[in-house]
Amino acid sequence: MRSVAIIGAGLGGLAAAIHLQRAGLSVTVLEQNERIGGRAGLLELGSYRFDTGPSLLNYPWVFEELFTTVGARFHDAVQLLPVDPGITFRWQDGRRLTLSSSFDCLREELARLDPGVGPRLAAWLRRAGHNYRLSFARLVQSNADNPLKWLGALRLRELWGLGLQRSLYRQLALSFRSRHICEALASYAMYLGGSPFSLPGLFEILPYGELAYGLWLPRGGIYGLIEAVGDLAREAGVNISTECRVSRIAERDGRVAGVELADGDFIPAEIVVSNCDVPQTDAALLPDGAARRHGRRRASRLRMTPAVLTFYWGLKRKLVGVDHHSIFLPADYRGSFDRLLRQQVLQEKPAFYLSIASATEPALAPPDTDTAFVLVPVPPLSRTEGVDWRAETARIRQYVLGRLAQAHIGLQAGDIAVEQVLTPRDWQQRFGLFDGSALGAAHNLTQLGPWRPCNYSRWLHGLYYVGASTTPGTGLPMVTLGGRMTAARILDHVR
Ligand SMILES: Cc1cc2nc3c(=O)[nH]c(=O)nc-3n(C[C@H](O)[C@H](O)[C@H](O)COP(=O)(O)OP(=O)(O)OC[C@H]3O[C@@H](n4cnc5c(N)ncnc54)[C@H](O)[C@@H]3O)c2cc1C
Repeated sequence: MRSVAIIGAGLGGLAAAIHLQRAGLSVTVLEQNERIGGRAGLLELGSYRFDTGPSLLNYPWVFEELFTTVGARFHDAVQLLPVDPGITFRWQDGRRLTLSSSFDCLREELARLDPGVGPRLAAWLRRAGHNYRLSFARLVQSNADNPLKWLGALRLRELWGLGLQRSLYRQLALSFRSRHICEALASYAMYLGGSPFSLPGLFEILPYGELAYGLWLPRGGIYGLIEAVGDLAREAGVNISTECRVSRIAERDGRVAGVELADGDFIPAEIVVSNCDVPQTDAALLPDGAARRHGRRRASRLRMTPAVLTFYWGLKRKLVGVDHHSIFLPADYRGSFDRLLRQQVLQEKPAFYLSIASATEPALAPPDTDTAFVLVPVPPLSRTEGVDWRAETARIRQYVLGRLAQAHIGLQAGDIAVEQVLTPRDWQQRFGLFDGSALGAAHNLTQLGPWRPCNYSRWLHGLYYVGASTTPGTGLPMVTLGGRMTAARILDHVR
């Protein structure tokens, strides 16, 4: 039986493990932390329970498919709680826009900002829906590592219809006349580490996918999903070892030979799959020699998504006037993306995201209280060298609380019973995130499909990648699909 060592128990690593074990390989997952899940981790502060990173779950069909692979039923293992209304976008001038998967609610809400939007909304849903299905069927899951093969999956007319030739913002502006609607739907570009003014229009499939397939929270929080996937892996026969840090991938005669652990142990393996982010694997885990030289060069050239500063607050009471998900947009929308992504500087008044997960899943907080999670995108670590994160954290905290007060969300410093903050350095150290980048490699046109770091190494036989920075991309559903794609690649190579 072929032996596989997987470095990291992030969701991508776990998904790959399940598919490979199921196919008859012998899989061991080596995770450096005491818990599985990676960025989708768990933080407990007294009786408050927080998801460390992801808080928005969409495309449940991806997880259903993962469970079906091993003959299990996803909905038996994970109870999904619907989050509808979904995200509320808030502007500094007091305007708000709340999304919903109910067409009538959405039309009514959008019409407040864009009278007569109904037929244009319906046409947009048809167009974006068509592109969503086309992209997932022929591009996203294709595993093609060659541009001609990848693009050749579509006819010219279909390619043109995807909107690759215009920016996401302009693509949305074809359908919506309100700047606020365009800003809200285009802000999904953040998840891809790009600007709505430079990422291709194809990515209107992101807000579409969320509206069409709904927004969910597993019972127990996102970590409820991770625990269920971990159980699924173990039941399939995967061996998962935690507190096991891999220090180096070992090579013999141009092939991987196994992995060296930080404690000096050696785990032999014919195949190594790294779920540690691709550029971090390339820069820090490859053996000396050609692979390492190529890897370091690739890592230095990759365009990464921003880092994040995250706050976890256990509150003394329940919040009123705010739903589960809110995004606070800056007054200077375009300039803010420019400062974050092109100039890569810390901003005085950044956009931020607020999640009150206990509004949907009360079990996450003690009775009559709430949890609050605040995420503030900031430039990658290499652009914030010398920043005093203690001082910066205090400044941003005050700004966030001020903005919440301005929006009449009565959350004041005195309401916070317990607090933890993760700075970009913490994120880097805990999860091996290259340059502190929260979401991995960005999804600009030159890092999409066959141009994204591919899921096998061209320089070291037997080394494969899975997770946010390889194909198909970042986010919980994408890395789960990526697990299947990496497994398929391996099986294709070994059979
Ligand atoms: C703050 C934040 C918010 C997010 N919000 C969302 C969201 O709302 N919805 C969504 O879908 N996605 C979201 N994401 C993205 C999503 O979390 C990631 O795309 C996904 O979880 C990445 O999974 P992965 O498979 O790449 O593994 P990772 O989560 O990166 O896990 C990799 C694992 O490898 C381990 N590892 C690294 N190096 C070693 C080593 N040398 N030895 C052993 N183990 C090692 C790490 O400890 C880690 O456990 C968010 C991410 C962040 C950071």
